[in-house]
Amino acid sequence: MKNKKVIGIPRAMSYYNYFPFWYGFFNSLDIEIVLSAPTTKKTISDGASLVVTETCLPVKVYVGHILNLLEKGVENIFVPSIQSIAPKIYNCSKIRGLPDLIRNVVKGEFNIIEATLDKSEKNAGLNEFLTEIAKQFNITDAEVIKKAQNQGFVVQNNFNVMVQNGLEFDEALKYAKNGQVIIPPKKEEKPISIALIGHAYNIYDKRICMDIFKKLENMDVRVLNAYQLTQEQLKGGMNALNSSLYWANQYEMTGCAGHYLQDEKIDGIITLTAFGCGPDSLMLEDIRRKSKNFNKPILNLTIDEHTGEAGFITRIEAFCDMLFRNKRAKIMKQKNQVDEILQRV
Ligand code: SF4
Repeated sequence: MKNKKVIGIPRAMSYYNYFPFWYGFFNSLDIEIVLSAPTTKKTISDGASLVVTETCLPVKVYVGHILNLLEKGVENIFVPSIQSIAPKIYNCSKIRGLPDLIRNVVKGEFNIIEATLDKSEKNAGLNEFLTEIAKQFNITDAEVIKKAQNQGFVVQNNFNVMVQNGLEFDEALKYAKNGQVIIPPKKEEKPISIALIGHAYNIYDKRICMDIFKKLENMDVRVLNAYQLTQEQLKGGMNALNSSLYWANQYEMTGCAGHYLQDEKIDGIITLTAFGCGPDSLMLEDIRRKSKNFNKPILNLTIDEHTGEAGFITRIEAFCDMLFRNKRAKIMKQKNQVDEILQRV
């Protein structure tokens, strides 16, 4: 349809947190969504070629997705500036400055659909943010925008419920888009369980994380993450590590680590962080120092565009081998204790 309103959404960064909301919102406004293709080697190298080397991998990937949308001929590309998601809780400067970065590094004929969400400032909350976005498509009716907002929350909440109940990201998204909520049967127990800690855009982008979920599951390991936890559990995790909130994505790192460090069923923790990420290095240091009280092994995997898959797998395998050995030793110890007691009676 010639006059159909279209918006391009990069399959990167906040896509992995909020795309269900945007799906409900833009559909309700009758705006067609064009998504960039899943991340490939080319996405990364295209993005990396336009920014300085020190830029973190997720931002390089984001730039690559903008280029992919341009290749698809999309004219309006959604690049919001999400400054602050709650009073005095901020995103990192790279996320906050995404529209400026894209404007400066990507050349081409396209409009950036941008608006600023800044809950630390007056008149920059969600309503203003959504009104500003809709206005760029000449939609100004407050009731229509409110209805779209509600529709966004319905899809997002359905998605969150499914992910919290263990459904994989793509499956949960597929059902949420269809207005369904499917609760999967409880997964079979595995010999060991790992908590994978990282931002959604790192652990859910199969190229960035080198499909770590599948690799671990193939090693007979159960994998849990922050998105299976409720807000209350993440807050509890922050309290357990005695950490206060400053970064917008601190719950998914520190809160998640704090929660799983206390969980007896978790045998070890893997953190997946981007090379050159300031907030991650601070949060990781905090987690590492405080985790000493919990006696749980931690493996940190740092990724950039040069990370090789072979070395990545070797490190995961070595870590899992160690966890399997620990588990066997623990079971043997318990068995010996039971035998000793039985011999005494
Ligand atoms: S939080 Fe870290 S990984 Fe994410 S955009 Fe900022 S610097 Fe990059």
